[in-house]
Amino acid sequence: MTRPAPVVIVGTGLAGYGLARELRKLDAQTPLLLISADDGRSYSKPMLSTAFAKGQDAEALVMAEPGALAEQLNAEIRTHTRVTAIDPQARRLWLGNEPVDYRDLVLALGAECVRVPVDGDATGRILTINDLEDYARFRSALAGKQRVLILGAGLIGCEFANDLRLGGYQVDLVGLSEQPMPELLQPALGGALRDALQQLGVGLYLGRTLASLNPADDGLQALLSDGTRLSCDLVLSAVGLRPRVALANAAGLACGRGIRVDRRLQTSAEHVYALGDCAEVDGLNLLYVMPLMAGVRALARTLAGEPSEVRYGPMPVTVKTPACPLVVALPPPGHVGNWELQGEGPDWQALCRDADGKLLGYGLSGQAVQGRLALNRELPPLLD
Ligand SMILES: Cc1cc2nc3c(=O)[nH]c(=O)nc-3n(C[C@H](O)[C@H](O)[C@H](O)COP(=O)(O)OP(=O)(O)OC[C@H]3O[C@@H](n4cnc5c(N)ncnc54)[C@H](O)[C@@H]3O)c2cc1C
Repeated sequence: MTRPAPVVIVGTGLAGYGLARELRKLDAQTPLLLISADDGRSYSKPMLSTAFAKGQDAEALVMAEPGALAEQLNAEIRTHTRVTAIDPQARRLWLGNEPVDYRDLVLALGAECVRVPVDGDATGRILTINDLEDYARFRSALAGKQRVLILGAGLIGCEFANDLRLGGYQVDLVGLSEQPMPELLQPALGGALRDALQQLGVGLYLGRTLASLNPADDGLQALLSDGTRLSCDLVLSAVGLRPRVALANAAGLACGRGIRVDRRLQTSAEHVYALGDCAEVDGLNLLYVMPLMAGVRALARTLAGEPSEVRYGPMPVTVKTPACPLVVALPPPGHVGNWELQGEGPDWQALCRDADGKLLGYGLSGQAVQGRLALNRELPPLLD
């Protein structure tokens, strides 16, 4: 008797493994195949930007090895294996020349680091950290060195700046806008974060970018767009993430910023779903864990035979910058309100309300983050 085609999950990040675990709670038997371009070790990605302060190397962040997970999940896990093409009509994907048939296919491909062009002869020393293997590479490149220049003052750049500084490294942070985290923070909160990072000893070079990077006698020399010269040993680029859509695009699946899916997380092709950072759910592409977990629960039910729609409640983001505690809940897309600001020094409460006074979103810094639980109860859902 031929074995039925498996449910295939591509990607072993929090989305891929999260779905496999949830599916196994509902369905212990359906053949399950996970395919990953990386080494398949399970880890929690948010820990990557708090690990320098804790002195944790990549090994310390590993939660489980793929062999043990395969047994636990009653699944086959193929690591260091890249899906190269999908044929939705034939319900088949390709690993190079090898075809794999699927019953249902879930793309949990994540997002990749955006790169900005930089001149010079040392651009090979510009690294990124977007998974455990990147983290291991960065740590070994940093061995015996001290000075890190971080390119990008968004959420991830600021978290790494805070963390590397707490880990004892010398850190310069270069960002294009005049305040850190401009997409998420009202200017007063951005100012509080800027001051806190400076007090921690992070060199801030805002309103400029990295023009060139060249070898120097004692490491590297970075030339910024305004002519400032900085010495460093390594550059960490954190200028943004872009959902991985190339595979889906090539297969003719509808893509916007991410792979477009409906509330059931189904792409424009039947039996093909997308989940996590790569997915654009009803127009929303959120690169965070909470939405991903909501998707995991809904899709596991769907794959187990009970079609279910995903719902997003309020999803505040806690920024891991202990120098300046921050929690942010942006208004749902399409909702417009007015921001009211209260506070001083490091402690700010920014509330966004609509014309009827209903809370749409907030930003809290310093001591004000203590008010988040009460505010969360008033927030509207992101996808009802
Ligand atoms: C430094 C950092 C800190 C963060 N901190 C937080 C936080 O505090 N809170 C929060 O909510 N979110 C945080 N995030 C975001 C959060 O970690 C992500 O939203 C989440 O981990 C994404 O998981 P994922 O499974 O969708 O993608 P990923 O973890 O990127 O997994 C993608 C998987 O797809 C595989 N893959 C890709 N292409 C192929 C292919 N063609 N063939 C086979 N396999 C393929 C990869 O190998 C990988 O296994 C952080 C992100 C970073 C980078």
